[in-house]
Amino acid sequence: MRYSQYFLPTLKETPGDAEVVSHQLMARAGMIRKVAAGVYDYLPFGLRVIRKVENIVREEMNRAGAIELLMPAVNPADLWQQSGRWQEYGKELLRFKDRKETDFCIGPTHEEVVTEIVRGTVNSYRQLPLNLYQIQTKFRDEIRPRFGLMRGREFIMKDAYSFDVDDAGADVSYKKMYDAYRRIFERCGLKFRAVEADSGAIGGSFSHEFMVLAETGEDAIVSCNCCDYAANVEKAELRAPTGEAPAPTMELGKVATPNLKSIEDVAAFLNENPQKMVKTLMLQNERAENVAVLLRGDHKLNEVKLCNFLDCNHLQMADEALVRKLTGAPTGFSGPIGLTCRVLADQELAIMSDFGLGANEENFHLTGANHGRDFQVEAFVDLREAMAGDPCPRCEGKLESWRGIEVGHVFKLGTKYSDKMHATVLDDQGKERTLIMGCYGIGIGRTAAAAIEQNHDENGIIWPMPLAPFQVIVTLLNPNDETVLGAGEALYDQLVAEGLEVLLDDRDERPGSKFKDAELLGIPLRVTVGARGLKEQSFELQDRQTGEKSMLPVDGAAATIATRVRAALFASLGE
Ligand code: ATP
Ligand code: MG
Repeated sequence: MRYSQYFLPTLKETPGDAEVVSHQLMARAGMIRKVAAGVYDYLPFGLRVIRKVENIVREEMNRAGAIELLMPAVNPADLWQQSGRWQEYGKELLRFKDRKETDFCIGPTHEEVVTEIVRGTVNSYRQLPLNLYQIQTKFRDEIRPRFGLMRGREFIMKDAYSFDVDDAGADVSYKKMYDAYRRIFERCGLKFRAVEADSGAIGGSFSHEFMVLAETGEDAIVSCNCCDYAANVEKAELRAPTGEAPAPTMELGKVATPNLKSIEDVAAFLNENPQKMVKTLMLQNERAENVAVLLRGDHKLNEVKLCNFLDCNHLQMADEALVRKLTGAPTGFSGPIGLTCRVLADQELAIMSDFGLGANEENFHLTGANHGRDFQVEAFVDLREAMAGDPCPRCEGKLESWRGIEVGHVFKLGTKYSDKMHATVLDDQGKERTLIMGCYGIGIGRTAAAAIEQNHDENGIIWPMPLAPFQVIVTLLNPNDETVLGAGEALYDQLVAEGLEVLLDDRDERPGSKFKDAELLGIPLRVTVGARGLKEQSFELQDRQTGEKSMLPVDGAAATIATRVRAALFASLGE
């Protein structure tokens, strides 16, 4: 590809809404352009990377025995009504009507459609196991689209769905996907971890997220410093504390805490450690049930755990009016004493006594409070988020915390969809069995973005070879010099003949600005062709990652470069 004839609109300025480095660099390197919030054009340079990720995913899915098909983006509401998700799915599901007023949605995921295919075509255990996948555009009306391709509304996903006649088979299918995912992200050159994830109301421990480790990740992960336990904080279990609460030693007292609403402020005012305080959160779920949750002052609520306990899908903090109605006081002064709604406590409270609390009265808190004596709780439950320093739930180690970008998710679904949609087969005894399903997603654009988060410097992107849109850039220092142009074009032709993907920078621009662009674009190898080098029959070869420069004899240059590219690609296969 000749740069002068290519469509590569790079930007000098970073777009104002680009908060994370991958978004900034994708925009500046002419990979993507915003069309609407969370909706992007994939420009040619960006599309090349998307295709690279897709191809790696495709090769590994095929190798694992999954079979590619393509389902429609437009889904009839009817199928979603059969699964119950037409009602359950919130506003992320983009719904619309056709000219006949029939309801449709744009698929945010395709369990319904694929289950419909299988129930209509598979009726014997002999046709199983089956794993069908597609690489396709999804739409989710995300509440906060941001970070470019990382959290878009329209985005490309690889989604696979496995069908088995029994649980043991489903576990084998799951393991195959788990292993395929490891290979995929290794081949993409990413530093990642598979972590245990929440599997919601479906239960079982069969859900793993593949997390690319990055400071800017939206997910918090904990992992043990001794064993291989790692989990999303949404899921990370905590061991119940041992022992009992010490017997109360204090009387319940009331103190004025004017305008002090946060636990930190109240604790500082009382000269107490927040660990000796209890905070009371007032929440409501989608069934309009109210619940008060008590947590140690320095702990954070894990909403997923609470949802699972309450068997609900959504929770929100009670608004000011509801807090006043339930507690008789404004937000910031809530406490459990005298409440008539459900009161749950995090399990850590079971060993606390003589603690501080909100008084359900404006500008007042209580001291020396004790459960059992001053108020009752319905249950002590694991409801808080794990944090660094917590004991590991599996061994004697301690948890460390990380941030990660979820690039893939493998999930054992069980019979959630096959039950509702009556997808059954006859087993070897001629007995009807409900299919056991698994679903497996990878965000293609998010994976490309995650690769940039992990591979960049102050000058631009540093593509790992397997994802590089071009493997080599040939920079002509002065394309108006016939010798330079001739030698550059000859090298370009030889590299292309070697099967490499090459960008020939033949633009009539200053060398400095061409070098800047080459750094920004992150192409792994740069060959500089200049009059001075040619006098000595050589090119200059620079490695984008290490910055290392070497002189390359013109004779055999293409073969040397091709060997380097192939070696890097081969190494990424990890075989
Ligand atoms: P998240 O918690 O980040 O919203 P999710 O749990 O909703 O992700 P899944 O439904 O498991 O995601 O989707 C499978 C994969 O699709 C994710 O692992 C992620 O890589 C990708 N993905 C999900 N939502 C988006 C999005 N809004 N933009 C880009 N990629 C996405
Ligand atoms: Mg999501």
